Amino acid sequence: VCPTGALVERDYSWQVIEALADPDKVVVVQTAPAVRAALGEEFGLEPGTLVTGKMVAALRQMGFDYVFDTDFAADLTIMEEASEFLDRLNRFLAGDKDVRMPILTSCCPAWVKFFEHQFPELLDVPSSAKSPQQMFGAVAKNFFAKKLGIPREKLVVVSVMPCLAKKYEASRPEFSENGNPDVDISISTRELAHLIKRSNIDFMSLEDQDFDRPLGESTGAGVIFGTTGGVIEAAVRTAVEWATKKPLEKIDFTELRGMQGCREAWVQVGDLKLHIGIAHGLGNARHLLQAIKEGRGEMFHAIEIMACPGGCVGGGGQPYHHGNFDIVRKRAEALYREDAGKPIRKSHENPEIIKLYEEFLGKPMSETAHHLLHTHYFKRSDV
Ligand code: SF4
Repeated sequence: VCPTGALVERDYSWQVIEALADPDKVVVVQTAPAVRAALGEEFGLEPGTLVTGKMVAALRQMGFDYVFDTDFAADLTIMEEASEFLDRLNRFLAGDKDVRMPILTSCCPAWVKFFEHQFPELLDVPSSAKSPQQMFGAVAKNFFAKKLGIPREKLVVVSVMPCLAKKYEASRPEFSENGNPDVDISISTRELAHLIKRSNIDFMSLEDQDFDRPLGESTGAGVIFGTTGGVIEAAVRTAVEWATKKPLEKIDFTELRGMQGCREAWVQVGDLKLHIGIAHGLGNARHLLQAIKEGRGEMFHAIEIMACPGGCVGGGGQPYHHGNFDIVRKRAEALYREDAGKPIRKSHENPEIIKLYEEFLGKPMSETAHHLLHTHYFKRSDV
């Protein structure tokens, strides 16, 4: 929050209350992976306490018609991003000089805005895959609304994010159709906590409940999106299995984990050693991109960048940690615990994602997938 008060945090709680009170609307909510690892802190629980089931129960009690999971859309993001990565990599290895490497992740809107302003010459380097928040919105408005037999305008999509930049992302004009946004309202973890308290819900006494289907089914890979290194680990799980056509010998790529601001790791894929970079915090991202621009260091094949230190677990919409990075670390550990306990841990094995492609999208990178799940970036350096 701006110390001089010149910048004011936007609070959209009231819009949520109005949508829930509107009898003409069907209101669905999606919750990002990092939210479940931090929401409990607002109710006096230790950092890193997972409250997934209580959070779902609270949202249902508040009156949401469907409680879904952004982790589902994180799995979808991996289907598209890993396909795009393998396509670029294969063309690059075949000698295609037009291919831009390394591929950069694109699910953090603050990072997207940063490179649009600061590195406009690299606009075609990041993956064109939309973020999970926006993929969810596109699927909800174009697939789920049809399943319910209602027009997209009747469906209100609310997202609960660890992030304040997601409010801006939801408002980008390219993420709407005829003025109707794919995500109508984006609120932070803190706003959700206030709404639960305002609704007089006794959060601590709630029995755990599960997400609705189909947009609530997720894998462990979707869960770890919420921490630094998690997006690229999820992508590697799928890309390696697809490239080698063999089941992974180990699912945990621990070499990609950690809290060092700028780090690198190598992952063996058949005869090839993939060189992977990870940066969190925009200062670290700048450092890495500058090195790429100047051709310094060994070539990377893929890089994950997240704007917040620690990734989304340390996001600006989470309960304040007042600079205590141990809290961020505990939230990250909680996500790895949830991942380890999931029966399915690779995005491409999510049965509801498989069904979504069969019923609606065709295959990754299909025309429909391109239209709904991919985006483009804008040069903003002279804006
Ligand atoms: Fe938002 Fe921070 Fe996560 Fe980026 S890293 S999506 S700015 S919470």
